Amino acid sequence: MNENPLDRLKALLGEVYDLNATLSLLGWDQLTYMPGGGAEERGSAMATISRIMHLKLTSDELLKCLEECEKQTTGLPDDSDDYCLVKVTRREVTRRTRIPSKWVTEFAEATAIGQDKWERAKSTSDFPCFQPYLEKIIELRREYASFFQPYDHIYDPLLDEFEPGLKTRDVQKIFEVLREDQVSLIRELSEKPQVDSSFLYQYFPENAQWEFGSGVVSSMGFDWNRGREDSSAHPFTTTIGMDDVRITTRVLPENLSSALFSTIHEGGHALYELGFSRKLKRTPLATGASMAVHESQSRLWENLVGRSRSFWVHYYPKLQLLFPAQLANVPLDIFYKGINRVEPSLIRTESDEATYNLHIMLRLELEIALMERKIEVRDLPGLWKERMNEFLGVIPKDDVHGVLQDIHWAGGMVGYFPTYALGNVISAQLWECIQKNIPDLDDHISQGRFEPLLDWLRVNIHTHGAKFETQELVKRVTGTPIDPQPYLRYLRTKFTEIYS
Ligand SMILES: [Zn+2]
Repeated sequence: MNENPLDRLKALLGEVYDLNATLSLLGWDQLTYMPGGGAEERGSAMATISRIMHLKLTSDELLKCLEECEKQTTGLPDDSDDYCLVKVTRREVTRRTRIPSKWVTEFAEATAIGQDKWERAKSTSDFPCFQPYLEKIIELRREYASFFQPYDHIYDPLLDEFEPGLKTRDVQKIFEVLREDQVSLIRELSEKPQVDSSFLYQYFPENAQWEFGSGVVSSMGFDWNRGREDSSAHPFTTTIGMDDVRITTRVLPENLSSALFSTIHEGGHALYELGFSRKLKRTPLATGASMAVHESQSRLWENLVGRSRSFWVHYYPKLQLLFPAQLANVPLDIFYKGINRVEPSLIRTESDEATYNLHIMLRLELEIALMERKIEVRDLPGLWKERMNEFLGVIPKDDVHGVLQDIHWAGGMVGYFPTYALGNVISAQLWECIQKNIPDLDDHISQGRFEPLLDWLRVNIHTHGAKFETQELVKRVTGTPIDPQPYLRYLRTKFTEIYS
């Protein structure tokens, strides 16, 4: 029984990793191939595995072992794998032990019912029928925060679940800067003649769209021996293990950009998951640093690469060959402008780069006000319309195009939305750094060569997995914590040129 505590800890965490892999596979199957009738049993199978994972992570054996490891790793460099493993495990164990199991069960039930009621409410645009279930979920999220007192802000514990270490105040400061500048940029652009994008909404056969997207993802560096692509109602990426990362795509026959950019987006998530150091295998470090860092990777590929002119210098002739009837008469410049059209819209997931963050700011403001009890759930539909008008100058005619559009709140994910906007911000911050490190980056991209970019991302971001918190990682790589300025510079340069 003289086993080294660190080896013992890794063995225990390896089991948790395996359970999580099983859970991911069940979840992936649920959203791809499972027959509808399997839902109920799948739900209980997944709940059982979650429970076993939780028990293992909070067991006396693991806690005792963790304490010994903390002594053993004191004095190690703070970027060493073992030091980070112990630090990250402690963070997760502390979080889990503060949450009473009674709350976990109640929350699981409330969000399962919540999502079902949300779907129904959405199909009939009937917010009042969803309201009592959302009230329950919001109440449970307030209770969740109370387990982490004292805190600076009631929203901190919610944010921390998705963005370890980040504070509400930091996010608010970043968003204040973004908001002012983005609102004025959108106003300026709205006074310019609108660009045409109608050619994107013709009939594009599904199999050809699928092939093109897969080809792009291959060139990005997606390894088909360690991943696959399937179809699902909403695109997502799932990691079953270090050598099994899966993306999904939804092809709309009358919308060329939807599948194309979401495939590149999911490809970006997948490359991150495929790039962790092999030394982190079967540990809690073999995952992304946070949701914002994850989103920075997907957005970087989708927008900074996929919506750039250089990218289409290489790919547009191929796309025209694939769809001659639809695109032969659309020049590259018109195509490039079309895929970057800016237009304030009602639906977050369909919004462009210039307006996207404002959708997030609206949600964050409402979430914070809900947590602070400054507003109540029943106020949401009205406030949504008011704020949409204030932020974007558009007003939804019903709640489907307003407060009911996202599943997040029904799933209890209050605290998640800011990670999308932070991902945008970080992607541009990294991009400025990459451009300095790879001066001929544009040339590479315009020749369809992505190895230099992927290598940079692997060395600077991917390999570290979850060793560092977001701010720590961004600072290590760029020299400064999260900074909204590069994103604002990027937007202004790109869109004033497009709308000149
Ligand atoms: Zn994403």
